[in-house]
Amino acid sequence: MNNNAEKRINELVKILNKASEEYYLEDNPSLTDSEYDRYMGELISLENRYPEYKREDSPTMHVGAKVQDKFNKVTHKIPLLSLGDIFNEDEVRAFDERVRKEVNPQYVCELKIDGLAISLTYEKGILIRGATRGDGTVGEDITENIRNIKSIPLVLNKEIDIEVRGEVYLSKASFEKINEERKLNGEPLFQNCRNAAAGSVRNLDANITKKRDLDCLIYHLPNPLDYGITTHNEALNFMKELGFTTNYKANRLVDNVDGILEYIEEWTKKRSSLPYDIDGIVIKVNDIKMQNRLGFTVKVPRWAIAYKFPAEEVTTRLIDILFTVGRTGKITPNAVLEPVRVAGSTIARATLHNEDNVLFKDIRVGDYVIIRKAGDVIPEVVKPVKERRTGEERPFVMIDTCPICHSKIIRKDNEADYYCPNRLCPARKIENIIHFASRDAMNIDGMGESVIEDLYNEKFITDITDIYNINSYKDELIDLEGYGEKKIDNLRKAIEDSKNNSLERLLFGLGIRNVGAKTAKMLARNYKTLDNLRHATLEELTELSDIGEVIARSIVDYFANEENINIINKLKELGLNMNYINTSSYEEKDEFKGKTFVLTGTLVSITRDRASEIIENLGGKVSSSVSSKTSCVIVGDNPGSKYNKAISLGIPIWQEEEFLEKIEN
Ligand code: NAD
Repeated sequence: MNNNAEKRINELVKILNKASEEYYLEDNPSLTDSEYDRYMGELISLENRYPEYKREDSPTMHVGAKVQDKFNKVTHKIPLLSLGDIFNEDEVRAFDERVRKEVNPQYVCELKIDGLAISLTYEKGILIRGATRGDGTVGEDITENIRNIKSIPLVLNKEIDIEVRGEVYLSKASFEKINEERKLNGEPLFQNCRNAAAGSVRNLDANITKKRDLDCLIYHLPNPLDYGITTHNEALNFMKELGFTTNYKANRLVDNVDGILEYIEEWTKKRSSLPYDIDGIVIKVNDIKMQNRLGFTVKVPRWAIAYKFPAEEVTTRLIDILFTVGRTGKITPNAVLEPVRVAGSTIARATLHNEDNVLFKDIRVGDYVIIRKAGDVIPEVVKPVKERRTGEERPFVMIDTCPICHSKIIRKDNEADYYCPNRLCPARKIENIIHFASRDAMNIDGMGESVIEDLYNEKFITDITDIYNINSYKDELIDLEGYGEKKIDNLRKAIEDSKNNSLERLLFGLGIRNVGAKTAKMLARNYKTLDNLRHATLEELTELSDIGEVIARSIVDYFANEENINIINKLKELGLNMNYINTSSYEEKDEFKGKTFVLTGTLVSITRDRASEIIENLGGKVSSSVSSKTSCVIVGDNPGSKYNKAISLGIPIWQEEEFLEKIEN
């Protein structure tokens, strides 16, 4: 048994050290973070049981990885440590109890930004050095690169000697942009925001950092007592006053463990709305003297800990690839997976998007693959783990006929997807109805996939209008297995209720190509009635923010089609509401009504989507470009060229704070 333990410890140290090199030095890990954390958990538990086999080179004893020679080295005066991990409420409570055995603390809760730790040194208020964490003691000199990050001040508001620490990160939008460019250039894609941020900063060409739109949030002052500062919260304020960007709107001082748990619950829900990735919450004892009393282990402070969110990326086996036909006829390859738990739910299917994606990533049947599921987003296959191939895997072959009606499928120029061209293909018709009744569309409770398939197969319904004729087939329905009176009654009620939905649900449910739930909502808010939208021109539509030529063309084409108008007229006769119902707490306001707004820069305390929604509820429109027709430009941090254009055209400008005041008053 002991032999086995020693063998397994050796094995785990080898796996984890190799993974650390890939992660910290090459910015290209082959393990997911959850796998790494699982192996690490196993190693910690074995080392606790068999301390005699603990090795000097164990990753439990070291921070990060040794730095590469390609960079100059920087020795940190005070080491940069890692953080201990916890994963659930019990462990949060256990941490609090451990701390309370020695001190009686308040805590500061912060978002754990998924980026790369850096240290910045200033002399007389001037930036002289930027360094990575490296192995905690020796980091890499990345001064030239970080000079190109706009949110890192080159000069402080005070002539002071100081070292601060924080996280360099990439927004989700910049990450997507970089990967799109890399895809076009045939370069390997970054797996996530963290690796892309690290790869962009740890680059010998400082121009690359410049191009990549990195950001930085500062969260740590290593020696606060030297500045007469006695709490972490004060240190954060002090650094903000010096000119650093801190996460002051999200950071929170709490009195006890319940405050920590509330903060975790709140950010677990809100995390997907942030413009950048976070992988957890950091909990820190506020009082510096208490921190010093609690001290450190070789690797982590005892006064702070990281609560990690459930993994959004895991590895599993791809057993097969099946094709589905969507409501537009789009053919999608889907991975059939060995079921695996990810982001809190069990996944057995994941989208592979299209042929190009599968071929580009070289995904094969039989591969181990990395699956990602973030928030409500459909799970997708990130990439295969090529290192785990046995040679038995089967390369992907695209089908050439529809799996349902066997029509020859087609791929239009410049499109990545194949389509079944048969408008009468049963798969397309059923998918249309499923989409119409779905939660984000008409939200007809009880009318899920299997009910719709039954009704379609029994020929009770052939299109969406038939749903509302349920009274004409309800008596026959009762003869069908699994359809009792109660079920049918509930269904009738849900169908009746859906007639009163606000316009955006109907708009989304109609399945206009390229019009998602968000666009439908924006259209409903702007046009108020289906009739207004039906008569909108291409030019009017493209003036709206987020509506490009392609979406505008889809909308105009949809309403130009006689069959579609017939369906809309039938729905109208059946009593469906075709108007927008404003349920938000915002009423139209003169300052916004009929005016066109443009947003630029990063808004700190509100997402762009939410800001646009509020403007529209207040009666305004949001446009994507500045012109003489623009009424006002709302400016966040680091605004782009739209800001300059607004100034040159003399258009009124509101800073974020001013905008927030106007919407609230
Ligand atoms: P960590 O990322 O778990 O936590 C410490 C780090 O959190 C700090 O160094 C800092 O960079 C960051 N951080 C973000 N916001 C912060 C805030 N507000 N306050 C303080 N710190 C903040 O620890 P680590 O040692 O950097 O890395 C270990 C983790 O990295 C593992 O748990 C794993 O998830 C991942 N990893 C993955 C692989 C892989 O192969 N996939 C390999 C090595 C490490």
